Amino acid sequence: MTDPNRVDTLVVGAGPAGLSAALNLARARMRVLVVDSNRPRNAATMISHGFLTRDGIPPHELRRIAREELGAYPEAEIVQRSSVVGIRRIDQTGAATDADSHPFLATVRGGTQAGDRLVLARTVLVATGLRETLPALPSIRAFYGMSLFSCVACDGYEQSDRPLALIGETPDLLARALLVSRWSSDLTVFTNGLAELEAGDEEHLAHRGIRVERRAIDDLEGERGSVTAVRLVDGERVPIDGGFVRPLWHPVVDALAELNPACDDDGHLVTDRDGRTSLPGVYAAGDVAAPGPQQLIVAAGAGARVASVITQDLLGVSTSH
Ligand SMILES: Cc1cc2nc3c(=O)[nH]c(=O)nc-3n(C[C@H](O)[C@H](O)[C@H](O)COP(=O)(O)OP(=O)(O)OC[C@H]3O[C@@H](n4cnc5c(N)ncnc54)[C@H](O)[C@@H]3O)c2cc1C
Repeated sequence: MTDPNRVDTLVVGAGPAGLSAALNLARARMRVLVVDSNRPRNAATMISHGFLTRDGIPPHELRRIAREELGAYPEAEIVQRSSVVGIRRIDQTGAATDADSHPFLATVRGGTQAGDRLVLARTVLVATGLRETLPALPSIRAFYGMSLFSCVACDGYEQSDRPLALIGETPDLLARALLVSRWSSDLTVFTNGLAELEAGDEEHLAHRGIRVERRAIDDLEGERGSVTAVRLVDGERVPIDGGFVRPLWHPVVDALAELNPACDDDGHLVTDRDGRTSLPGVYAAGDVAAPGPQQLIVAAGAGARVASVITQDLLGVSTSH
């Protein structure tokens, strides 16, 4: 009988990246364990856009269908509401028995099991996504994912031609404002008194009819998820009918502390073009890896790609695809 705690690939995270990878790995007849803590980044929103054949689907439904499809493969097991809390290489500890065949030992915690589950894996795929920190405005969570969004490509279309806000505190507001203006030219950029926009940037935006508001924000106004105004600290209200926010993004790599793979300055896992991290046998896909378009279908594509690479690497063949 196959030991459920010895797998070809441990997939950490069951968003589109992890689920797509797991599906393709299972179809390559690899034993896969998918562990997911059920905290997807897009949980704040009811509808997701831009996924071929699934435009407008609730994000939890997209994941449910993917889990259901994966569940049809006996090679795959999905453990939900659980976390991989640590991963280490056993060949570095002296416990050499499995080091050659299954060099990674992961600790899985939570779900229905009482104690920790220890899993040996030949390879590890990290698909843990990002955590977000929104600007510290008291009511921002009430509107995020409902009428204030972070991904312009995902949610710009529904906000077309409305008076919009772009709220952010980072130096990349100029580029983001120009992007948002593709969907609405009635745009105010709010720096919350923090973002460092150069005078030249402001001129550039003014040239396109985009206003810049440098005063600090007191809070947002609106009801039932629909934002209607930005209230400034001096009490002035700027009416809006939706908009975008620039969160800070934190790649979720806590479980890898002991492995210590290379990360870029923003904390993304550094990979080669095929998803290999700096550590042999450890791969990454989706938002946790190198920055790029943060979209469901892009993450799913990255997952499918890395599954093919893992399959070939385990066979020792070249990855010509
Ligand atoms: C508000 C909002 C709206 C969005 N709307 C759209 C949209 O309309 N269209 C679109 O294409 N994209 C949209 N996105 C972006 C999209 O959600 C992400 O790009 C996509 O989910 C990234 O997929 P992922 O698999 O990399 O990570 P995620 O989907 O975030 O999944 C990562 C998973 O890993 C789990 N995890 C993390 N750490 C561990 C651990 N140690 N052990 C086990 N599990 C772990 C998390 O719980 C989570 O379930 C939106 C994002 C946000 C925030």
